Amino acid sequence: MDFALTKEQEAIKKFVKDFCIREVLPIAEKIEEESKIPDELIQKITQFRLFGIPFAKEYGGSGSNYQTSTIVLEELARYCGAVSMLVGVNYLTSIPIDLFGTEEQKLKFITPLATGKAIGSFAFTEAGTGSDPRSITTKAVRDGDNYIINGAKRFITASDKDGIIVFFAKEGDSVSAFIGSKNVPGYTVPKPWEKVGMHGVALTDIIFENYVLPKENLLGASGNGYNILLDTISLGKLDSAALVLGCAEAAMDEAVKYAKERMVKGKPMTQFQTTQCLLSEIVTLIESARLMLYRLAWLADQKKNIRAESAMTKVYVTEAAMEATHKAFKIHGAYAYVKEFRIQQLLRDVSLGEIVEGSNEFQKIIHAQSIIK
Ligand SMILES: Cc1cc2nc3c(=O)[nH]c(=O)nc-3n(C[C@H](O)[C@H](O)[C@H](O)COP(=O)(O)OP(=O)(O)OC[C@H]3O[C@@H](n4cnc5c(N)ncnc54)[C@H](O)[C@@H]3O)c2cc1C
Repeated sequence: MDFALTKEQEAIKKFVKDFCIREVLPIAEKIEEESKIPDELIQKITQFRLFGIPFAKEYGGSGSNYQTSTIVLEELARYCGAVSMLVGVNYLTSIPIDLFGTEEQKLKFITPLATGKAIGSFAFTEAGTGSDPRSITTKAVRDGDNYIINGAKRFITASDKDGIIVFFAKEGDSVSAFIGSKNVPGYTVPKPWEKVGMHGVALTDIIFENYVLPKENLLGASGNGYNILLDTISLGKLDSAALVLGCAEAAMDEAVKYAKERMVKGKPMTQFQTTQCLLSEIVTLIESARLMLYRLAWLADQKKNIRAESAMTKVYVTEAAMEATHKAFKIHGAYAYVKEFRIQQLLRDVSLGEIVEGSNEFQKIIHAQSIIK
């Protein structure tokens, strides 16, 4: 058993940290306030090839693995959750194509996603369902050599940005997966939702109205969408867990900094045992969550079936991240409650983890089924 990062992982972690200190940190507040990641920053992420870490070189990726992409997303989130989320959504869109696509589809669609030429979206949630994808109502009807898509998706990350979308629709009674382009005829996005956290990456609904796709854009076998979805979000949970874990680490950094600087009765707060206990609890939560997360990434790299493991890990990491961030919030006292301090933003950002990619209650049910089967 080896708990150390490899030399390559250490190097990329340092590389991402330096990149963030140089390019992300100076504009992190602007991203939060303006709810936009500047195109120049996206170009730099592209230039440093962060969009394609776990994908093969022949499709424009780095040929690395999920352990490394998890470390990258965690480190990005330590400096800006939204930036990590944007990179993560390109992974999430590429994963189902990597797992189920034809060679032609991989070359055509993963390459622009992995090289940052396209921004991805992955759409299963609808107004009537988020945690239970079998209840989706968007319809795909075969018409000669095409599919005609009608319906609406809700709460889709980056669906306003040009690029590639993987989405799910009902073909008769079963669910199929499709690959399409965004912002083309038949595809419209209403005004973005005003999110409370993760500013910088828009969240919009999508309306498909007689959206036409060639039959070659069916992903995997017709009717196999439910399996494609489950395998994809099992790997996607690595990204959402890494995202909130990185934000919780930022909360820890803020709490340590604040406690060292804040003087109470002539002493820094770090001298008080109540503060020391909270700091110890925060670090224990983060370290234990990280062990779970890296183990999941390792299992993913061994190509194991991680449906149950990813559900368990997503619950643990997102709840630990939330608890750690809340404790860091408490260390700040009243300063936690004013916008001048970053900790309030981190608490809003981290709260996403327990909801996204299926509520934690549903994750527990998925995990429990593997225990009692
Ligand atoms: C910032 C953000 C980004 C997102 N990005 C994407 C994206 O890119 N793509 C995408 O497809 N989706 C995305 N989503 C949607 C997200 O994945 C869903 O919101 C999530 O899966 C939860 O679904 P829901 O909102 O419908 O909650 P629900 O499923 O309605 O759950 C709400 C509560 O009700 C409980 N509940 C629901 N149904 C049952 C039941 N049958 N029995 C018992 N309890 C139940 C749940 O456990 C939970 O506590 C995003 C959401 C957010 C907030």
